Amino acid sequence: MLGRLARYLRILGFSVIYESDGIDDREIMRICRAGSYILITRDRNLSQRFHPSVLIKSTEIGEQILEFTKIYHPDRFLAFSRCTTCNGILVPASLDENDYRSHMNPHVCNNCGQLYWAGTHTSRIMEYLEKIGVWNED
Ligand SMILES: [Zn+2]
Repeated sequence: MLGRLARYLRILGFSVIYESDGIDDREIMRICRAGSYILITRDRNLSQRFHPSVLIKSTEIGEQILEFTKIYHPDRFLAFSRCTTCNGILVPASLDENDYRSHMNPHVCNNCGQLYWAGTHTSRIMEYLEKIGVWNED
């Protein structure tokens, strides 16, 4: 399944809805059409039946990310602007002065309320995306 890819694409700032097992192809295509979404799938047959779609061939997460971003380039400035859990938009949060995260650019999801801040995990993710070449234009 492509749940991990969905989370990474949200980190990159793409608006991603994720449907796991138990939903039929026609419903997936209806949702994509209604929301003008790009269909991302591992199912060759389904990808041929819908446009726009991206067929994911690799099972390795880094390659999966590139299979998508080589076609749809991410915008650096949109990285970390979405909630990885629910796809909501992150807005600046003000925390108590005594909270150690108050000086780490805290943001909160406008949909589910999850708190985000720029910690070591953030720089690790950025280094990883840099390393696999997500920002390369070719
Ligand atoms: Zn959220």
